[in-house]
Amino acid sequence: MTETPGAAESAALVLFSGGQDSATCLAWALDRYERVETVGFDYGQRHRVELDCRTRLIEALRAGFPDWGGRLGADHVLDVPVLGQISDTALTREAEIVVGEGGLPSTFVPGRNLLFFALAGALAWRRGARHLVAGMCETDYSGYPDCRDDTVKAMQVALTLGLDRRVSIHTPLMWIDKAGTWAMADALGGDALVGLILEDSHSCYLGDRGVRHDWGYGCGTCPACELRRAGWERWRAA
Ligand code: ZN
Repeated sequence: MTETPGAAESAALVLFSGGQDSATCLAWALDRYERVETVGFDYGQRHRVELDCRTRLIEALRAGFPDWGGRLGADHVLDVPVLGQISDTALTREAEIVVGEGGLPSTFVPGRNLLFFALAGALAWRRGARHLVAGMCETDYSGYPDCRDDTVKAMQVALTLGLDRRVSIHTPLMWIDKAGTWAMADALGGDALVGLILEDSHSCYLGDRGVRHDWGYGCGTCPACELRRAGWERWRAA
């Protein structure tokens, strides 16, 4: 990205994991900003399929949406192995996903999104982008305290102060449910975008892409598949 005055205002960095939510957020950003870059985090996820999906999604967006492709800049993957050192959860180990005390599932990595925002903020500073876009959502699932709106707003203030530069964090999915997320993809890019997200985004906690359901690939029974399936069915029925 260039450092010309005002350029940061029209540039965004999207926290892009390769899931349904962040893929929709990437389309949302491409619809709004002249220059869009993406960042993903490699923290030793036990299933690498998520990282493969994000590459496929970016390629498919470039191929299927030439206007957006012209705005889509570099993709950054940051290695964050330190998360594996401080977590003992079902995301990085072969452990069963269960809901523990306090209602937090074993997929919870304490403070993960705080770290991601700090890293994304630093990268955005380097890349001359003022806007961060992320797929946090309180509506379907508020079990992760670092996905809550108050946390995100606090991070926006912390980054703005700590980087001494205005940072805006956008979470377009914060108050809509998974059915609304499909509706947003449809509004942004129609059948082509919905089809692309169906085919290439990944949600399943178990990394299962063996079976193609109406709502995409997944084991069909883990909490992430359940949410995705239910949201798809509600949107189709609407
Ligand atoms: Zn699953």
